Amino acid sequence: MLKRTLLVLSLGLSFLIGSAEARKSKGSSVAFPPSHESLLLQNQKINQMGVERIGDERGLSRLVEDGTLVALPKTDAVKIAPSLPSNRRYVLPITRLFLLALARQYRAEFHLPLQVDSAVRPRNVQESLRHHNKSAAPTYGPTASSHETGATIDLSRHLSKKQTQWLEQRLMPYVYLGYIVVEEERHCFHIFVSTEAALL
Ligand SMILES: [Zn+2]
Repeated sequence: MLKRTLLVLSLGLSFLIGSAEARKSKGSSVAFPPSHESLLLQNQKINQMGVERIGDERGLSRLVEDGTLVALPKTDAVKIAPSLPSNRRYVLPITRLFLLALARQYRAEFHLPLQVDSAVRPRNVQESLRHHNKSAAPTYGPTASSHETGATIDLSRHLSKKQTQWLEQRLMPYVYLGYIVVEEERHCFHIFVSTEAALL
């Protein structure tokens, strides 16, 4: 169902792609530039979803044990970055479902897996990340990182131009429908998936 809907939306809403191309030609080099508004939007949706923000590894283990978080898919369509610690290879079920549908289509098109660089990231890990990377999202407040909930994955941007455009075009309808929020960061596609995506 999700797969078919992805296809229908991608075909039916192709005019949106035109608008993204127009946006790109106006200045930004990517379809989904990171912004303050995007961080606010992710946090608004997180509040609506009522999901927990994970403070540390203990909280993370608890949510894995009770089934709130599920493991990233083990399939030839998804590659997990070797550097990602094993206890952070978890996401919310809806995020897993979305990733799987997207990755299967990507593999059918390019015969390659999508690489997940990051998934759930407890607050204490995000804090240490901010020590090294000033542009990383804060740990508290209305612009806090959505990785703290398990709703978000980072997909590697080590992609060709054609692969990048393919991903932008596939993601575009869901962004416009408000089901996902995407930020194209320097090294990754940051994709937040809301529970509204379950309606697909
Ligand atoms: Zn991210």
